[in-house]
Amino acid sequence: MIAMLALWLRLLTLAVTPSVTVVPASPRPGETVAIFVTVPADAAVAVVWRCRPLPVYFVNGRWRALLGVPADLPAGPHPLAVRVERAEGPQTFTVTVPVQARRFPSQRVRLSAAKRRLFAVPQVAAEKALWRAMLATATPEQLWQGAFLLPVRGRVTAPFGLRRIYVGLREPQGIHRGVDFAAPTGTPVRAANEGRVLLARPFTLEGTAVLLDHGQGVLSAYFHLAATRVREGETVYKGQIIGTVGSTGVATGPHLHWALYVHGTPVDPLQWTHPNWLNRLR
Ligand SMILES: [Zn+2]
Repeated sequence: MIAMLALWLRLLTLAVTPSVTVVPASPRPGETVAIFVTVPADAAVAVVWRCRPLPVYFVNGRWRALLGVPADLPAGPHPLAVRVERAEGPQTFTVTVPVQARRFPSQRVRLSAAKRRLFAVPQVAAEKALWRAMLATATPEQLWQGAFLLPVRGRVTAPFGLRRIYVGLREPQGIHRGVDFAAPTGTPVRAANEGRVLLARPFTLEGTAVLLDHGQGVLSAYFHLAATRVREGETVYKGQIIGTVGSTGVATGPHLHWALYVHGTPVDPLQWTHPNWLNRLR
């Protein structure tokens, strides 16, 4: 009888289903999504999205993973695997994330011959590899505090996700992976949130650029600066001046290109400026 009860209890504990919440439940391409998993205290959690394991962090009593929905992801149901590791063995659950359809506007861009030549500069390949490596940074500690600030005051001249057609380039199609703000050369650019400086140096295409690590796979980047005011490795506070607006790299005039990455996927940074989104992350 006791053996039966023990077996029944064991089956009961094995059958524990984690509570999984996806916020927003039906995201659009370019949005950041939070996955919250509540499991018994002795369990560990792993989340896999599109064949990629996502880092999961314990935040306020539950596990949280962040993912960026790529701007070119087709609409439809996309499976998310949640694996719960317990002493009794692992269990895997599949949650469906229904990604909405989204149409982005398009824009034709005509670059000067000098700017077009930048795409053929030999060190671009090595610079791309450096960006790829840096964008994979996932510091366990959350450094950001509350909503992100707009890094500069200025009119938005190109939203996130804009389809760009470059006139006269060998690879004419591109997706705008950030938000452009028009501002005069020399306008201060501020850190959108607290973080650590991963990169502060000149690049061929991005121009003089700063990349900040806000922790847990959330990074922000600032392109085409006239100059930087920070050094790699230093910590910055929210609102600290990190550089000035310029038109270095592939830019047709002075502006700030502001980008936000979640585990290397570019997402719309404006979502992170809404206090409501930050409240839902708690
Ligand atoms: Zn841009």
